[in-house]
Amino acid sequence: MSAHIGVTGLAVMGANLARNLARNGFTVALHNRSVEKTDALLARHGQDGDFIRTETLQELVDSLQKPRRVLIMVKAGQPVDSVIEQLEPLLEPGDIIIDAGNSHYEDTRRREAALAKQNLHFVGIGVSGGEEGALNGPSIMPGGSKESYAALGPLLEKIAARVDGQPCCAWIGTDGAGHFVKMVHNGIEYADMQVIGEAFDLLRSGAGIEPAEQARIFAEWNTTDLASFLIEISAEVLGHVDANTGKPFVDVVVDAAGQKGTGRWTVISALELGSPTSGIAESVFARALSSQTDQRKLAQELLVGAEADIEVPATFVEDVRQALYASKLISYAQGLDMLTSAATEYGWNLKLDEIASLWRGGCIIRADLLKEITKAYAADEKPANLLFAPAFTTAIADVLPAWRRVVSTAVQLGIPVPVFSSSLAYYDGLRRKRLPAALIQGQRDLFGAHTYGRVDAEGSFHTLWGEDKSELDAVDTH
Ligand code: NDP
Repeated sequence: MSAHIGVTGLAVMGANLARNLARNGFTVALHNRSVEKTDALLARHGQDGDFIRTETLQELVDSLQKPRRVLIMVKAGQPVDSVIEQLEPLLEPGDIIIDAGNSHYEDTRRREAALAKQNLHFVGIGVSGGEEGALNGPSIMPGGSKESYAALGPLLEKIAARVDGQPCCAWIGTDGAGHFVKMVHNGIEYADMQVIGEAFDLLRSGAGIEPAEQARIFAEWNTTDLASFLIEISAEVLGHVDANTGKPFVDVVVDAAGQKGTGRWTVISALELGSPTSGIAESVFARALSSQTDQRKLAQELLVGAEADIEVPATFVEDVRQALYASKLISYAQGLDMLTSAATEYGWNLKLDEIASLWRGGCIIRADLLKEITKAYAADEKPANLLFAPAFTTAIADVLPAWRRVVSTAVQLGIPVPVFSSSLAYYDGLRRKRLPAALIQGQRDLFGAHTYGRVDAEGSFHTLWGEDKSELDAVDTH
């Protein structure tokens, strides 16, 4: 018996992907640096399907059908390079190395280029859904060559989550495209979690609604256009009571949010691309601020808060729901716009309808909203920005008054809503006829002769600020 695919790296993610493959009828060769994990997996779950136990990478490679498919699921970073280095001499042209971990897309681009020289395919795939998704059907974002997808796609599509009969897996684009899209998925996840957090804070601090009651409200919201995995689990967390103290669970958890880095990567990449993903950036910074516990303690003693003692409007709960919807929509719009910028930068033909569709199941940001987003980008005329799709132009117009009320109430009450408010600023910035960027251009020209464009003429201009303030046209900027 030879295996359809080999998996090396059998911690929680690798083990669950291997089991998912085996449960779907594939023979899976198993390998882990330390053999204990291989044996533990076989002992506990050997009955899931056909596995081949191997102790060395040579044995793993020898057990595979050709072209060989080796899926690496080890710790991201240097360990991936180390495993590739060991595999490379064991493989033949046409074989496929798959990295399904959370690798940075630039690493994937580098690895793909290096292995292509050896006529080996390297496929970076983004996998979302955590351990549960890996076992029962994740959302899968494969990059690499189209040719490699022909050999790999059928396996991946079989183990992926399904929505309306469609697998949540599609070839994304060459080299690092899959890992890039997964990174942006995680960025949107950060923003989605933050806006839910802001809604919770507003309902608690603004309207005095206790977590147990909020659990009911969130469950109710999960039957509206906010319906999503994250709203669903927020209701569950809010309703949970700490067994030790009898207090709401959210009140006994330290309010300092951790992060593993994919949100930060998204923001760094957005800055490099010049893509305005303010919602994702604010959500990464909000986690950073939450973790500055010493400064926060001091600030509570030293810094003055809001003085307003205002009543929240009677419509507050519904207003917050609508503001949450609007802010969430902006985060998706910004993330998708970032994908458009990246496609241009890296020469990827990213199909936003397919990407939105494969985020509909298996992954953390799965949400009803993605169905409408898929439709928007499947239209013959693709919107330049998600907000320009007629369904969303109307949707955001409907919630705009509530969104403005919520942000201004939050400001008056001193409740920080960095994503609610920056998303509104993005919306207003996008639609504003004149932006203060004109003044910034003037400042730049004055102190640095950076030149400016004119609204009434083509070309670059510079004003002789230190002389007679006359204007030079057709300035050679090079
Ligand atoms: P870990 O990231 O905890 O990595 C542990 C595995 O890596 C073990 O199998 C370990 O082998 C192996 N390993 C570490 N260093 C080396 C090395 N130098 N050479 C060979 N093997 C090495 O495992 P996870 O399952 O949590 O995650 C795997 C990947 O999936 C990561 O990239 C992660 O970011 C990503 N991911 C994780 C998710 C999650 O929910 N956990 C969700 C989505 C993606 P040994 O047993 O011998 O120590």
